[in-house]
Amino acid sequence: MSKKIVIIGSGFSSLAASCYLAKAGYDVTVLEKNAEVGGRARQLKKNGFTFDIGPTFYWMPDVFDRFFYDFGKKTSDYYELIQLDPGYQICFGEKYFIPVSADFEETKKTFERIQKGSSAKLQSFINKAEDNYEIAIKDLVYQPGEYLMEIVTPKTAMKLGSFVDTIKKQVARHIDHPDLREVLEFPVLFLGAKASNTPSFYNFMNYADLKLGTWHPKGGMYEVVKAMRNLAAELGVNFETNSAVEEIITYGDEVQGVKVNGQVKSCDILLSGADYHHTETLLPNNKKQYSEKYWAKKTFAPSALLFYVGFDKKLTNLEHHTLFFDTDFEKHAETIYDNKTWPEEPLFYGSFPSKTDSEAAPEGKEAGIFLIPIAPDLEDSPEIREKYFNLIMQRLGTLTGQEVKDSVIFKESFCVNDFKSEYNSYKGNAYGLANTLFQTHILRPKLKSKKLSNLYFTGQLTVPGPGVPPALISGKIVSDLILKYENKL
Ligand SMILES: Cc1cc2nc3c(=O)[nH]c(=O)nc-3n(C[C@H](O)[C@H](O)[C@H](O)COP(=O)(O)OP(=O)(O)OC[C@H]3O[C@@H](n4cnc5c(N)ncnc54)[C@H](O)[C@@H]3O)c2cc1C
Repeated sequence: MSKKIVIIGSGFSSLAASCYLAKAGYDVTVLEKNAEVGGRARQLKKNGFTFDIGPTFYWMPDVFDRFFYDFGKKTSDYYELIQLDPGYQICFGEKYFIPVSADFEETKKTFERIQKGSSAKLQSFINKAEDNYEIAIKDLVYQPGEYLMEIVTPKTAMKLGSFVDTIKKQVARHIDHPDLREVLEFPVLFLGAKASNTPSFYNFMNYADLKLGTWHPKGGMYEVVKAMRNLAAELGVNFETNSAVEEIITYGDEVQGVKVNGQVKSCDILLSGADYHHTETLLPNNKKQYSEKYWAKKTFAPSALLFYVGFDKKLTNLEHHTLFFDTDFEKHAETIYDNKTWPEEPLFYGSFPSKTDSEAAPEGKEAGIFLIPIAPDLEDSPEIREKYFNLIMQRLGTLTGQEVKDSVIFKESFCVNDFKSEYNSYKGNAYGLANTLFQTHILRPKLKSKKLSNLYFTGQLTVPGPGVPPALISGKIVSDLILKYENKL
C-alpha cells in the first residue's frame, strides 16, 4: 500500500507538491480550510465581473513551462497565455506614463527619450541581470537550503559582491533619472523588501520583467490554479475543502496525523503549505522550531489593502497593469518597513484585466483591482478602508483625466484582517517572508522540520521565497527532499 501524505493548504506550493508526490506514487490528500482551492490566488466573481483576489502578474513563464513539462504537459494543454504589450505602465503624474514594452528595444528607446545615453546603460544593466537569471534558475532557486555548499559553485562564487551590493545602489550607478530608477526598482517589490535592502543579485527580476515579459492567462491567474488542480486530480490527488487543520498530533519525534473538523486523520508524512508560523502554532510547544521572538524579528513582505471594483463604463488612459508612482516612493516604503504606519500619500497599483480579457467584465464595463501595499498588522477598519478608497478613486480620476467615482457599480475590499482570517497569515502579511540578504537560502525557515522526522514545509515563508513561480519551485524542491529522505531519489 502506498504511504499516505497529508498536505495542509492548497496554495500554489501545495498544489505543485501534490502533483510531484502523487506522481511519485504516494496517496496524497490536500486539506484546505477555505471552500475553494488556490490560497491567496483565489477568484472573486460578482455581477458578471471576474477578479483575481491575489496575484495578477504572470512572470517567469519558463518556470510554469518547466512545471507542466515535468508531467509531460504544456501550459497550453490547460490555459491560453496572452503576452501583454505594454507589459505594464507606470504613472508618474497627470497623464504622464512610462510604458514597459513587450519589446526590450522599445523600452530602450523609451529610456533614451527620457534620459539621453540611458539605453546603453540599460543594456549593460540587463546583461548582468540576464547572467544572474541563468545562475539563479540553474544553481540557486531549485536548491532546498539545507547546506550553504548547495549554492557554492564557481559561478556563484564570482557573484559574491552582488550579495552585499543592493539593487538600489546598482540601479543608481546605471541610471540618473529618478523615474527611470523607479522603473528598475519596481520588480524587487515582488520580493517583499525595499530595493535598498535587497541584494543586487536579485536584479534577475529585471530580466524576468524586461526580457521575459508580462503575461496574462485568459480568464485570469485563477486559470493556473484550475490547471494545477486538474493535473493533481488526474494524478489521483484527493482534495478536501472546508477542512481547517486544528491540531497536529505527534508521538515522540513523529507526526501521527492531524485533527480536522474534530476528526483525526492519520498520515505517514505531513507537508504544510499553510503559513509556516501558523503551522507551528498547531504543534505542541516542544515541537516548534522557531520562537515568537524569531518571527517578530523577521522582515515580512507587506500586507495590502485591496479593492475589487466594477465600473459601469470603459476607462481611458489605462493599461491592463498600471502602477501609480506619482507620490514619494521612499516615503511610502518607510511607512511599510520603518514606521509601520498607514501612508499619507500612498502609491498604488491598478489592474484592469477587462482591457485585454473580455471574460473579466460585461461588455462596455471595466473591472478594476487596486492594491495599496502597507505594513503588516496595521489597524484595519471599515472607516480606514473607505478613506483610502476615496483617496485613490480621486487620484485615479485626476491622473487619468476622467470621472471614475460615479461609475463605480460595486466594490469589495480585502485587508489585514482578511489575510489573517482567510489564510491564517502572520500579522496579515500578503506574500510571506521577504528575500533580504539575511533571509535567503539557508537563512530562511527550513523545508524539513528539525524536531519531527516526517514533517515538512513549503510555500512563501520558506525557500525560495514569495511569488507564484517561487511557490511552484518550493513545491518541487520539498517533494524532492521528501523523496530523498524516503530513499526514493
Ligand atoms: C494581493 C497579492 C498580490 C500578489 N501578486 C502577485 C503577482 O502579481 N505575481 C506573483 O507571482 N505573485 C504575487 N503574489 C504572491 C503569490 O500570490 C504568493 O506568493 C503565492 O500565491 C503563495 O502561495 P503559497 O502556496 O505559499 O501560499 P497560500 O496561497 O497562502 O496557500 C496557503 C493555503 O493554506 C491554507 N491554510 C491556512 N491554514 C490552514 C489550516 N489550518 N488548515 C488548512 N488549510 C490552511 C490557506 O487557506 C491557503 O489556501 C501576490 C500575493 C497577494 C496576496
